[in-house]
Amino acid sequence: MTSISKPIPLVEPNLGGNAQRYLNECIETNFVSSIGPFVERFEREFAEFVGVKHAVACSSGTAAIHVAMRLLGVERGDLVAVSDFTFVASVNPIAYEGATPLLIDSEEQSWNMDPGLLADELRSRARRGLPLPTVVEVVHILGQPAQIEAIVEICDEYGIPIIEDASEALGATYTEGRYAGRQVGSIGQVGCFSFNGNKIITTGGGGMITTNDPALAARAKHLTTHARLPGIAYAHDEIGYNYRLTNIAAALGVAQLELLSGFLEAKRRLARSYDAALFGLGGLTLPPRPSWSDPSFWLYTVRLPAALDPRELAVALREAGIDARPVWPPIHTLPMFDTAPRRRGAIADDLFRTGLSLPSSTSLAEDEQRVVIDELRSRVADRVPRRAGP
Ligand SMILES: *Cc1c(COP(=O)(O)O)cnc(C)c1O
Repeated sequence: MTSISKPIPLVEPNLGGNAQRYLNECIETNFVSSIGPFVERFEREFAEFVGVKHAVACSSGTAAIHVAMRLLGVERGDLVAVSDFTFVASVNPIAYEGATPLLIDSEEQSWNMDPGLLADELRSRARRGLPLPTVVEVVHILGQPAQIEAIVEICDEYGIPIIEDASEALGATYTEGRYAGRQVGSIGQVGCFSFNGNKIITTGGGGMITTNDPALAARAKHLTTHARLPGIAYAHDEIGYNYRLTNIAAALGVAQLELLSGFLEAKRRLARSYDAALFGLGGLTLPPRPSWSDPSFWLYTVRLPAALDPRELAVALREAGIDARPVWPPIHTLPMFDTAPRRRGAIADDLFRTGLSLPSSTSLAEDEQRVVIDELRSRVADRVPRRAGP
């Protein structure tokens, strides 16, 4: 087995391209803070990439989701339907507004919100005269597009707007149906993205709000900038936030955006190599590859056979210099949300019990990936005896 000279991270930023040049430009022109040409340029070029009319930059993905809640009128006491199986930052902004998450379990095809369960929940609430969610927040986890067409259909039936949390899935695309050719974050009323250090592109920290509605875009800009009215007077017409992205961060974003197509190619190539090397390995389940989408494989995540615990395996791999990570516990298991209403949760539980993300950096070298594959193969083979041949 080949050995490695330095630890292999789960996922690390891949800077380069024009990053240095654009950052120098910020320093040379003194535009380091929230005013400067890169913010607008980043918004314009991002909107173009995702295929939406408007993009509003902000300070984090969490801020983007929080603003999205405000844009769509989520208020104290409201319900917001959201995936149970997601990172906590999808759900915290619901609580910031005093609303309650209504947790919907995943389906097997994409590991995202199950449209059938959402439909059951909405129909049963409507039938019993119970309140319906103000918003449905669809999360595209791990670079996997959710079944948005079916979700749009059921939401349209009840007039419920959709927020897409596309933080982990920039570039993932639908290939079939009504939204063929469209990217995640371009379909719901509002899309949200993150540029945290571990995401597919990074600005150090940052986020983006996307929409095709000019009024929502204008209000998003307003809310992220203290809800300050134009003019020199400090006039504000509602409670806003300091959620601006700095020109420095946006400069990095513009440079990253120039590299994004290459990053997506690298992620998809990594996924194909992992697929080929791990296919058929004792009881291991590969990430979803539904016919209707082209995932971006932000994190390449497998489900382990029952004999292996992802937490134990992650510790063992860390000792071998490999950073692999168990996936998030379902939201319904967290103390802040364990009394939230929910529909099922068994698949989220199972994903947590079995899921392990493997190193997925766009800069991961072929020989490094080989090491990860060899280590994983030997550890799975140790625990799961090969079935005798035919
Ligand atoms: C990263 C992430 C966020 C939050 O983004 P930040 O920029 O870290 O605030 C939200 N939702 C999901 C699913 C994420 O993975």
